[in-house]
Amino acid sequence: MSYTALYRKYRPLTFDDVIGQNHITETLINQLKTGRIGHAYLFTGSRGTGKTTCAKIFARAVNCLNPENGSPCGKCKVCKALGSAGDIDIMEIDAASNNRVDEVREIRERVKYPPVNGKYKVYIIDEVHMLTDSAFNALLKTLEEPPEFVIFILATTEAHKLPATILSRCMRFDFRLVSAELLTENIKKIFNAEGKKYDDEAVRFIAGAGEGSVRDSLSIADMCLSRSAGKLTLGDVLDVLGAADRGKIRALTKSILAGDARDILIKIDELTSLGKSVSRIAKDVLLCARDLLAVKTGAESLVIDTEENLVELRTLAENCDGDALGCVIRLLSSVDAELRYSVSPKIVLETACLRAGKLVSDDTAALGARITRLENRIEQLIENGVSAKPQAQEATATPVPEPTPDNSSVWGRLITYFRKNGPMSLYSLLCNTHNVDLDGGVLKITPESDAEYLQFSDPEVSDLIVRALSVLGANVKTEIIKQQGKPDMDTEIDRIKKMMAGGKAKLNITR
Ligand SMILES: [Zn+2]
Repeated sequence: MSYTALYRKYRPLTFDDVIGQNHITETLINQLKTGRIGHAYLFTGSRGTGKTTCAKIFARAVNCLNPENGSPCGKCKVCKALGSAGDIDIMEIDAASNNRVDEVREIRERVKYPPVNGKYKVYIIDEVHMLTDSAFNALLKTLEEPPEFVIFILATTEAHKLPATILSRCMRFDFRLVSAELLTENIKKIFNAEGKKYDDEAVRFIAGAGEGSVRDSLSIADMCLSRSAGKLTLGDVLDVLGAADRGKIRALTKSILAGDARDILIKIDELTSLGKSVSRIAKDVLLCARDLLAVKTGAESLVIDTEENLVELRTLAENCDGDALGCVIRLLSSVDAELRYSVSPKIVLETACLRAGKLVSDDTAALGARITRLENRIEQLIENGVSAKPQAQEATATPVPEPTPDNSSVWGRLITYFRKNGPMSLYSLLCNTHNVDLDGGVLKITPESDAEYLQFSDPEVSDLIVRALSVLGANVKTEIIKQQGKPDMDTEIDRIKKMMAGGKAKLNITR
């Protein structure tokens, strides 16, 4: 007997069974009851939140002869015909594989013919943002004057990629991520129906890992079912999710919190060479930091983990500070978005981790931390008899040498180029680099830390820079120069001076 995925097996057939989208199902039911049905709908939201499921229910409901509270009855002859294999009244089209203009033209040809079984022909176009421009234009013509008996339901995870002309023709419904609570309930219901025994924490962990997606949570539940014969434990779930490296993730988080650049880069390398994806690593570090914060703030009950892992977390939580954790969470949660525009995912992760470790800085939090460190060092120097005289508010900021026009224009244009075209990681790396000189047709870049030097030395990065320079028509070569033996203190002071220049804060440090 072939196995049907849980997600398909338990796919809701009525609006009542759809999870966590009441704001949408109620409106749709209302439209069906009052007969105020539109010709074009846009269902948008994250994957696995019920867009296609609702589209299918709606498509059957508009045709059902005896709808029950707005949902298809499943018993009448139309419901039966629509459910059969040969049905052509409800067409589901995957725009990812049928994105060309010819295919949309074919739809336009076919919409002329009235439905065979029910009142309406319904076209469900999945991943509609994947259509080409000309296909969108063809679709728009159909949306402008659809035959009375045709309904289009466009589904997409990325509504912002749709042309405004299409958006304005559609009734839009935004599907929300489903709460972990509802996902937990749903998984339990299904496990009970399947006769599967489980530990509560195991199911809660699956729901959390589903991240708001019914489909994802059920896919994980599926894997768990096939891997564990007896009662499902949290350990089983962690194994299935490839989360056996929790120790390694915790170690990486620890290095970030300790601000150890070398360790961070080594640990990331270890994890990626184990085949873990960059976005998975970022997510796991994020979860680890979040768990640490929960433990630290006395909300340990929110952490779903084995007792043995909890012991480790408690020790680590005791030895780190809340602000640092906040910094890790903030920076790591932006990694996913940055990855979309990046050709060097590993660099994005490294930069975020180094930044979270306050080793590379481009923000006020890190600047604050650096100033504190600097102040401490100055105090030490004063104790050792070195003169350090902070000046009052009216003191002027230390002048920073103006870059030569040529230099600033090439570098500035390069920065603008990456801001527009991405990758964002490279853009922020460039923004952090102030020591740049144009010398006889050579752009000499001196990164300010070893970590940044390593990033600039990545062949992929230099390749991107060379390509950007040629796009910009700048006939210059680049040279990456390693900062030589400059004492840490000087580097720190220089960097802070540069950051302060032009800013509101004023600081003058005399040595
Ligand atoms: Zn029916």
